Amino acid sequence: MTVRQTRAERAASPLARGAIRKIAEASGGCLRPVQLRRTDIQTGETVAVMVPCGATLASICSPCAERTKTLRAAQCREGWHLEDEPDLAPAAPDKTQEFWLTMRAEAQLRRDTAAAVGHDISEYDALIDELDVEITRAGVRGTVTSSSSGDGERRARRSRSTRRRQDAAPLPARKIAPRTVGKVYTSPDGKRYRPSMFLTLTCDSYGKVHDDSTPVDPAGYDYTRAARDAIHFAALVDRFIQNLRRVLGYEAQYFGGVEPQQRLAPHVHLAVRGSVPRPLLRQVLDATYHQVWWPSTDIVLFDRDHLPVWDESSGNYLDPATGEVLQTWDDALDAIGPADQPRHMARFGPKFDAQGVLAGSKDANKCIGYLTKYLTKQVADCHVPESEAQRAHADRLAEALRYEPCSPTCANWLRYGIQPKNPRPGLVPGACKGKAHRPEHCGYAGRRVLVSRKWSGKTLADHRADRKAWLVQTLGLELPDPARYTWAQVTPADPDYLPPEQRLLHVIAERARWKAALDEARRRSRPPGGELPATGEAA
Ligand SMILES: [Zn+2]
Ligand SMILES: [Zn+2]
Repeated sequence: MTVRQTRAERAASPLARGAIRKIAEASGGCLRPVQLRRTDIQTGETVAVMVPCGATLASICSPCAERTKTLRAAQCREGWHLEDEPDLAPAAPDKTQEFWLTMRAEAQLRRDTAAAVGHDISEYDALIDELDVEITRAGVRGTVTSSSSGDGERRARRSRSTRRRQDAAPLPARKIAPRTVGKVYTSPDGKRYRPSMFLTLTCDSYGKVHDDSTPVDPAGYDYTRAARDAIHFAALVDRFIQNLRRVLGYEAQYFGGVEPQQRLAPHVHLAVRGSVPRPLLRQVLDATYHQVWWPSTDIVLFDRDHLPVWDESSGNYLDPATGEVLQTWDDALDAIGPADQPRHMARFGPKFDAQGVLAGSKDANKCIGYLTKYLTKQVADCHVPESEAQRAHADRLAEALRYEPCSPTCANWLRYGIQPKNPRPGLVPGACKGKAHRPEHCGYAGRRVLVSRKWSGKTLADHRADRKAWLVQTLGLELPDPARYTWAQVTPADPDYLPPEQRLLHVIAERARWKAALDEARRRSRPPGGELPATGEAA
């Protein structure tokens, strides 16, 4: 006999779908897996394989976002106190690559010989295109020649005399040595130290704020400057790094995380390899600014119903009243005269934070925590407004960003009588699709993680592969031969398509199997009395 449940008891028992989602989430499995079909080309057998969606935002898929964050932390840790220069020299081609490259060389020779005597070369060109595909498929990066015709007929880019170069910063410039690792210090007792830096750089003040970071005087708060600083923040960080390298005299490497402060202005945390004396840092910061040489937006020419119209035949926007062609982007740039000031000058605020950090220390871990803390959130989700004042502050910033041009191609230029670069039909001021205008980005459209090329010498994909390799090794698995399988994405129209709930079940089962195998491997290899660090996880 079954025990009768009350309505409340029934309501409390988890709904199947919700429960499945929770289990998948708790096991670290992707919530939106993509279904692939793996076909064994020898036996014809097909298997459904669930691939994680790889989302970086927790609002989309929290397990995938967390996993990416963990990888970022690993990347940050690995590069920060690197002792040897990362090896970025491309490896010599392997046998397969060599085969295709040799074929490609032969094809080029025949093509050029035929071309020299005026023969038809279209078949050779087609062959070369096919060989290039094979070469890429074999894992060779880049292309062999700039174009298969080899004419090299590239139009030189017109240099504009009016688009002035950035003024050089008043800094002692040293020649930059091709070195990326910091100095080693030896203490009297013979211990070696390789200190690195943790920096936090913020924007300037736009007006006094309360404890909750809302303006004391909203009308006097400089939202326009806040909006422009946010739009050009990435370029400013770039200038800072360039200046820092010039002063240090070596290619200092960095891992940075950009996130908003509570007042919604972006700031950047930077892990820098090697140490920088504080006075030097101050000097570099004082000398660092980014000038924006864009046309003026002081006068609004077109607004509301009075908007420029697109002329299909000439590919231009016209004045709706006179039919005159609007000033083009290039002309508007040319019109910036020698007496003009830059439209905006972005610079960091006077406050900055810098601390020396030793490899593997508690501080290092804490800083890595700071750096990756907000990575799984949209900029605006990092500080969700809790009061009316905070909401109003966010709204005013969004309003200031609405008509602020975010880039040379921004639709907002039309408002000021200028055609954006590469104009196309359908552009409406105030409706630019650029990320900077969206409230959730607070004006910052750049990347959230900034990693210099020679940080760890590895991309995120490399770190992911490291982790997979660790797993394969720990479990004593044998990697399947990649040449034996073909992969295809399964669409809803396919007979073997699995609906989302079913895919989630696959993910859960797979995670459970991985976990059991991993626990078993750990148990077997555990040294007597010791614990193995739980660093790995199914990728
Ligand atoms: Zn996912
Ligand atoms: Zn825009």
